[in-house]
Amino acid sequence: MMLVIERKKIDDLIQTLAKNTSVYIPVRREQGGAVESVFEKFTPGKTIDFYYLPTLCSIKEFFLPAIEDTFVFDKRKNQAATLAQKKPFILFGLNSRDLEALTQLDEIMAKPNTDFFYFKKREMATVIGLINEPIKTPPGGDLILLKVNEEQYEAMPITKKGRALTKKRFFKKESAVITNAGSKSEEIMPRLRQLLLDPEFLSDVIKWSWRQDLAIWDELATLCLGCGICTYVCPLCYCFSVEDKIDLGGKTCARCRKWDACTLPRFAQVTGGHNFHKTIRERYYNWFFHKFVRAYNEYGKSQCVACGRCQKYCPAKIDIEKYILKMVDAYVKAKGV
Ligand code: SF4
Ligand code: SF4
Repeated sequence: MMLVIERKKIDDLIQTLAKNTSVYIPVRREQGGAVESVFEKFTPGKTIDFYYLPTLCSIKEFFLPAIEDTFVFDKRKNQAATLAQKKPFILFGLNSRDLEALTQLDEIMAKPNTDFFYFKKREMATVIGLINEPIKTPPGGDLILLKVNEEQYEAMPITKKGRALTKKRFFKKESAVITNAGSKSEEIMPRLRQLLLDPEFLSDVIKWSWRQDLAIWDELATLCLGCGICTYVCPLCYCFSVEDKIDLGGKTCARCRKWDACTLPRFAQVTGGHNFHKTIRERYYNWFFHKFVRAYNEYGKSQCVACGRCQKYCPAKIDIEKYILKMVDAYVKAKGV
């Protein structure tokens, strides 16, 4: 016996949840002749995209928005007020890679210091995964709906919030026939996905390729425009800058944080004008270094889940999987491993 929900009841579940809370779901839309998936607030008539494409805005935007006023100081009251998220919301339908990314981002934002504003939003959120491929371990979230056959999903509550949801009438205990054999989402960056299983090896490869001054880095430096898009779309890039915005009357001041990107020209520029990463070659390597070397040193894993966003949205069409594989090939040949 397992706890299941019929696929056709998932819409009813969303409609019920949306009566009291904002629910965000993946939907597919056509814009300018292109088909894309986006997370949107559910309203009646919207249909869940069960196999969503890599979205331009990743789930980090719900917890670490592109621009955010964190607190406002009011000179007249001599008081600072935080602008932390107060309303609960539900993020529905995350695939396994996005769930994995969110779990990793939680770890990053908790260490070495806990990010107050990020976790205020995380506390307010209930995260429900919709996984279509077989999994070995649940990748995160509060509740996972795991496809077991064409008509049914197994409900796997992970947290108290998730368990509370499964008390709703849409879930029932029954013996289900498991026939699920795979999913379309498995097709995205499959070789990078495989390499991510050995983050130590990947870290060695990236470091080695730079020290060897491989021509790949010249090629990438020629292609890369230094636009920062790969960082903005990545669910695991989290660098931000902070600035104070004072109103014209000088009465209030808001502390604002906004995304930054290590590929941008002034990212590593300090007071006095010195720039630690003057060239795009250095800056683009830094992006790789942080994801695959520094992340491994600090967290024991790469900061990448092979979601496909950086590859899809890069205006220079840089396919990081292809270049990492080239580095791996060169490494294997040189070391004979
Ligand atoms: S999105 Fe592409 S062009 Fe822009 S910084 Fe990233 S790799 Fe370079
Ligand atoms: S594939 Fe690209 S966008 Fe996705 S997690 Fe990896 S580095 Fe980030």
